[in-house]
Amino acid sequence: MNQNIENIELLKNRLVDFSINVDETMLDRFEKYRQILVEYNQHMNLTGITEQREVYIKHFLDSVAIFKNGYIADDLSVIDVGTGAGFPGLPLKICNPKIKLTLLDSLNKRINFLKTVGQELGLNEIEYVHGRAEDIAQKPEHREKYDIATARAVASLPVLLELCVPYVKIGGFFICLKGPSVDIELGQAKNAMKLLGVRLVEKINVILPDQELKHNILVFKKEEKTPAKYPRRAGKPSKNPL
Ligand code: SAM
Repeated sequence: MNQNIENIELLKNRLVDFSINVDETMLDRFEKYRQILVEYNQHMNLTGITEQREVYIKHFLDSVAIFKNGYIADDLSVIDVGTGAGFPGLPLKICNPKIKLTLLDSLNKRINFLKTVGQELGLNEIEYVHGRAEDIAQKPEHREKYDIATARAVASLPVLLELCVPYVKIGGFFICLKGPSVDIELGQAKNAMKLLGVRLVEKINVILPDQELKHNILVFKKEEKTPAKYPRRAGKPSKNPL
């Protein structure tokens, strides 16, 4: 089997493992996304990972692992905070085009890249937001308006909770991807969880092909309204975590 077909088979089989109904359009969109990523990466800083198998595993499958245990369903509104080159948000949309996706990042170049990808892949119902998470969360049209907020590789957990939880409706979920330091970060995030109104409901261990490091998905349920003073002004959450 040639390498390309082998990689597509791997992607397909792992998507099926996450209970996703895979079709040709989905696989084509993933490969097109990778090609645009590689092309744009030549003149802007998007990712250090460009080889097909690596992109499929470390970007696409890692992102899509969020589908585990059924939190993401049709018609839900999802905001991906600090989405960068679109992870985990865009792979979620490729797998379930019925979600209403918002991609947020403080770098406008990345937002413009994402608009190109969305257009080229023919994906509708994506809102692209350029700005700091701290500022956008104070806007009434975004505050506590989402069923789900997601994030990967944006900040340590106490900081990340302050940046993301204000977007989530009461009863909704904040879902993030974390590496091997997950338990230490959870220990440091107790105060932030209490102040922001969330409870940890699940820590899901994810095993990906070729990966030695442990990957985890943390699922927090929003149980109380987040006080209006959070998130604090831009830069403050990371300078002085809750
Ligand atoms: N989530 C992507 C991923 O997993 O590949 C990108 C990770 S990248 C290391 C972090 C991204 O978060 C960058 O694109 C950066 O611009 C964005 N970011 C960091 N702090 C932010 C903030 N306060 N508000 C909005 N975006 C932020």
